[in-house]
Amino acid sequence: MSQKLLVVEDEISISTLLQFNLEQAGFQVVTAMDGKSGLKKAESVVPDLIILDLMLPEMDGLEVCKELRLKKLNIPILMLTAKDDEFDKVLGLELGADDYMTKPFSPREVVARVKAILRRTAAAGTEFEKQKEEVEHLRIGEVDIYPENYEAYFKEKALELTPKEFELLVYLARHKGRVLSREQLLSAVWNYDFVGDTRIVDVHISHLREKIEANTRKPIYIKTIRGLGYKLEEPQ
Ligand code: CA
Repeated sequence: MSQKLLVVEDEISISTLLQFNLEQAGFQVVTAMDGKSGLKKAESVVPDLIILDLMLPEMDGLEVCKELRLKKLNIPILMLTAKDDEFDKVLGLELGADDYMTKPFSPREVVARVKAILRRTAAAGTEFEKQKEEVEHLRIGEVDIYPENYEAYFKEKALELTPKEFELLVYLARHKGRVLSREQLLSAVWNYDFVGDTRIVDVHISHLREKIEANTRKPIYIKTIRGLGYKLEEPQ
């Protein structure tokens, strides 16, 4: 039986986009356009997961979150926020959101996140699964990294990385989307507090690219930001 999702989003274009992509991924999707009707549908449908926009008419996402928890409806919640929303991550998570995403996002990313939360929730039963759940997992495009296990995968195949390549990849991944200077990378990964030879960074970056880029001349993961440094980003 397919899992049921509730999408509470007042922007019809986003709601439609989410519904389409989630249905493609095999989910049943119910939608609501405001906080109040979202809450009602959550109670009547009891979905497996709720994708909840923060800024909603009638009742905002945080209030919906709070109400659901008060009613002891333990449905996992993925919160959507816009970049300029005054969203307090800590508050959102305290009120019971399981994860959150910032707009704009790719539908593929949402689907992946929904699946991850559902896996996590389904796994939360046994002690063994609980331990698994606590393992940090970083995912960028088709790169999966498990820092504690010292494992990284590209297209689900294990990557052969040297320890420094691995640490560099983890550092870039943890700072996804941010431009990092060579000096910053040098001090974070090589623990150089002085200004060392930054070419070592370039060499390792090029090795990483050989392993995760289809075309190292046109990298889609690790971008060179001229004059500044490097940035790991979600491929478009
Ligand atoms: Ca909204």
